[in-house]
This record gives sequence, C-alpha cells and structure tokens, in this order.
Amino acid sequence: MINKIYNILPQFCKDLTVEINRDLRLLWFMFVKPKGTKKCQDKSFLAYQKSRKYGPLKHICYAPYTSMFFARNGKVSPCYASYNDNSSSIDNASIHDIWFKGSFAKIREEHNNCDFETTCQFCNKLMLQKSYGSLLINKYEHYAFSKSKYPTIMEFELSNKCNLSCIMCDSNLSSSIEKNKKDDITDNKHYDKSFIEQLDEFIPHLQLAEFTGGDPFMIKEYYEIWDKIAKINPKCHILITTNANTMNPKIEHLLNTHKNIHFNVSIDSLEKENYENIRRGGKFEYALHNIDIFIDYCRKNKTNLNILVCPMTVNRHELHKFVEFANSKNICVYYHTVIKPKELSLKYLDKQLLQETISNLQTFEAPKKTKKQKTNFENYQNLVKLLINWEKEDKKEESTNKKEELLTKTQALELILSKIDGNSNLNKKLMALLDELNKTDVYLTIIGKLVKIENNIFVEYLQTKTVEELKEICLNLK
Ligand code: SF4
Repeated sequence: MINKIYNILPQFCKDLTVEINRDLRLLWFMFVKPKGTKKCQDKSFLAYQKSRKYGPLKHICYAPYTSMFFARNGKVSPCYASYNDNSSSIDNASIHDIWFKGSFAKIREEHNNCDFETTCQFCNKLMLQKSYGSLLINKYEHYAFSKSKYPTIMEFELSNKCNLSCIMCDSNLSSSIEKNKKDDITDNKHYDKSFIEQLDEFIPHLQLAEFTGGDPFMIKEYYEIWDKIAKINPKCHILITTNANTMNPKIEHLLNTHKNIHFNVSIDSLEKENYENIRRGGKFEYALHNIDIFIDYCRKNKTNLNILVCPMTVNRHELHKFVEFANSKNICVYYHTVIKPKELSLKYLDKQLLQETISNLQTFEAPKKTKKQKTNFENYQNLVKLLINWEKEDKKEESTNKKEELLTKTQALELILSKIDGNSNLNKKLMALLDELNKTDVYLTIIGKLVKIENNIFVEYLQTKTVEELKEICLNLK
C-alpha cells in the first residue's frame, strides 16, 4: 500500500520522502544500532551505512533477499558477481528450491555474519576501498523494502548469442568470439522448456526482469519469456541490455506490445572509428539510429534508457564526452568497472599514464541543473574516484613477476601503436593483426618482438602485406 502511494507521488515529493526517511534512519542508526548491523562494525561498512540512499538498513546487501541471477553455465546466484562453483545449478534443482533453500540460504547466512569475503569478494574489495558509488550492492537498495517472499528481480543471462565480438568481451559472453575460436557456439545449454514453465510461479511477483547475453535481441528464449510476462504480469518492468545493433519486426512487435521496457545500451566510443574497433562487427551510425528509436519509445512510455560505458585504455581520452552525449539526449550514463582483460583495464595502466588520465578527467565540468545531469556528473566523479583508488592501491598485491609482465604488455602495445603515428587505415589493420595474434599462446612473446622492429620497416610491412601474411611473419618471428 505504502509503495503504491509512493509510486504515484510527484518526483519532488518522492525525493523529499526519501530524504526524511533517510535522516530518521540515520538518527536511529547513530543512537540505537538496529538489529542485523551489529556484526558489521568495520569502519568502511559503518561509513557505507551512513552514505546509503535510503539511510542505514538492516542488511548490507539486499540481492540475496530480492534477486536471482541465472548465469549461462546454469549456476544461479543473487547477482552476476556472486556465482561460483558452490552456487546451486539449475541442472539439478528447481528455481523454487534454489531460492528457498540452496546456495541462497548460505549467502544470506554469510551476510548475516558480515562475511563478504567468501562469496562476495567483488563488493568486499570496493567496500574496503570505500568506493561506495561503484558498489553493485547499490543496485538492490531500491528493493530493500519489498515484503514479498519471492524474488522481485530476475536477471537472465541464458545464452551468449551475440552479433558482435567486442575487444573487452570473451567467448562466454559473445558467440561471435566463440565461433572464431571453435567454429561452433555453445549458446544456451542449461535452460530448457521446463525452466521457462517454472517461471510461471515467479513472474507474478516480479517488479523487474533483466535480460543480458550475448545480445538479448538475438536470444530466442527471451521472446518466450517476454510473451509470458506480457500475459501474466504486464506491469513488470523489463530491462534489456543491448548493443543496439539489431532491429527487426520481432523487436518492433515487442516495442508495440510492452509498455514497461527500459534499455541499457552499451556504447564505448562516440568516435566512429574507435567505436567500430572496440565493438567489432558493430556499425556506429546504425547503433545511434537504434538508440534514437529506443529513446523515442522511452519518452512515449515514460521509461528509461541509460548508456553503459566500459572505461578502458582505448577510450580513456573520451570518457567525459559520454556525459555531454547523455545530457544532450536527456538520458543517464553509467560507467562499468572494467578489470579484465588486463591489457585494456585502467586498473593496470602504467602508473604515469593513469595519473595523466585522472588529471585530464578532473578538468571536466558539466552542468548539474536537472536530476539526470546531476546523476551523470556524479557517476563520472565516481569513476574518477575509482581510478584514484586504483592509482593509490598498493601494487605490491600483485606478485612482482605478474606486475612486470602486465606493465611490459601495456607499454609494448602503446609502443606498437605509436609506430603508426595515428594512421587510421594502418590502425585498423594493426588491430586486426593484434586480434589474430591474441588468439595464439605466443601473443606476449610476439608483441615483445614487434616493439623492437624499426618504425619504417614496421609501417612498410603493414602497408604491403595482408593480415594473414603478417600473422604468418609474426609467428615466425618467435
Ligand atoms: S554483496 Fe555484491 S557480490 Fe554479494 S550478492 Fe550483494 S551485490 Fe552480489
């Protein structure tokens, strides 16, 4: 009832209600430690409680109480960062048993004992660094007040079917990458008809169903689930994470039958050439065109479209531009935390380059008049904070050998790129070559050798040989 009243309030009343609620909770937290928070007395956890959107809450994370994530390997966990070998599998348990018993019960117990190290290292690390804005936990805050015994969120990652092979992705998440390596794709191996039938029990309780992949628009099982949601619980919100490189009559039909679809669109560059180098197989203009179609849908139906950006070594120069882009379209931008592949992650960037990147990012200012503008700038600042933490992080954590290897690799790639001096035609060929070499197990050795070749000879070879020929030559270099 309270939720229903809250949902029909105008935005400023909602904000005010949240603020009052938050202040009351803070007072309660400071004077009477609420049940459930007593075991989490570490300073960073206490500071997190005080920084929460809705004020301090009984549980540090609400994912195990509100959410189910179905991973492509059949494992089921509260979120994408908490599945492991100990997670229950859909191959030998029903959705019902996994939720009410199974590994979910174990994670809830861990959290009750303030143990975030056993299963939830991903959040634990960010928590101890006090990178609160980047915590995955935040995603589940909004559902903390649900009284349902059933999950209110389900996240589906049933297949890796995808039309692109992005440079930061892997074969687990992209069938196009898998096909290049194995000539065959694994697609969906665990979620059959019976799984889709079992969803009938859960769909009536859902507030949000999220779909990732692969690209959701390429995955046939999702169209069946979307049909079910339309019939059983049309009020359920649907969130689709897409690369926006697909549009067809089935998608148009979906947009016409559902009124509650939201979009997360992954876009990692606003420069055509860089976009198509990162999102291999993607078409920049086509993606922008489809983004506009989705934005129109969202405006008509009062839903949201966010853009998701992977901050990496290859787009570090344009990270601020996403804030400008999002502001110009009146949408929000969110930045992922990219820690792999290591050669693309800013976490492992050469310290001096990372410092330079941070300094450049810190000079950017953006308007903060509307709520979305504020969110965008806040997300941008959270990204900068995360980079500063990485920069400060004690690099001794890594073994010396590993550290040297990573630095050498990053530096080697920078040196190789500098040989072609920004020539865009050669850049494409070089990327294709590095990509081919990356599929071999002598990649590191070869890039080490490439660095030593004189620039003019390097460019001459690149200009006159095909990628296949160059690959052959490189393999012989070893
Ligand atoms: S603490 Fe983090 S990793 Fe663990 S369940 Fe919550 S969101 Fe997932």
